[in-house]
Amino acid sequence: MRKQFAVIGLGRFGASVATALARMGCEVVGIDADAAKVEAVMNEITHAIQADARDEEALKAAGVRNVDVAIVAIGEDVEANILVTLIVKEMGIKCVVAKALNDLHAKVLAKIGADKIVFPERDMGIRVARALAAGNVLEHIDLSPEYSIEEIAAPHRLAGKTLAELNLRAKHGAMVMAIKRKEEIIVAPGGDDVIRVGDILVLLGPTKVLERFQERE
Ligand code: ATP
Repeated sequence: MRKQFAVIGLGRFGASVATALARMGCEVVGIDADAAKVEAVMNEITHAIQADARDEEALKAAGVRNVDVAIVAIGEDVEANILVTLIVKEMGIKCVVAKALNDLHAKVLAKIGADKIVFPERDMGIRVARALAAGNVLEHIDLSPEYSIEEIAAPHRLAGKTLAELNLRAKHGAMVMAIKRKEEIIVAPGGDDVIRVGDILVLLGPTKVLERFQERE
């Protein structure tokens, strides 16, 4: 069966999540109190419903109880955001994702049982800053506060070296998971593989170590 989602609050963030999920083939019910927001996504998602999400009966009528994941994307109205998170959690939805405005708000969301808390503006700001500050970082995924996966354009100083010569695992606790070379991808490369100019390296390791691979002028 297709995975079912409810997106509550269809502002810029909520509408973007809802339409992206629908395009990926998921079943998506979207709810917003504002008729114009509902109309804007009506043709792109499974159901778009105008309702005040603080009304539990309205949520039930919209079928929210049966979804696999509920995303609470109400922004500025922190009270509504918290109340709706509590309502959907109490309905028994296994995975509730809530948007937080700040750390204190996030703490409250965690206390009432939100399973995942997102800070879209803050996270996007960090991504943009990273991309601008370190010109060769293409992708960055935080695995934990200390570890991450990074896709970086291989710094010129590494060209011509084998992975054995770099010896990243022993020296720094980091590893090259893959090398992307034009159309080709070398998954789990070995010690004999040589880094070439133009390669893209997929690295896993301590964030502090990976930062050293960011090419500086
Ligand atoms: P974004 O940055 O995603 O545009 P935002 O942080 O500015 O959002 P808001 O615009 O405050 O957040 O809220 C997002 C949406 O949630 C709005 O379209 C708003 O109509 C809707 N919303 C707010 N409160 C409720 C509610 N109680 N029930 C249903 N929808 C609501």
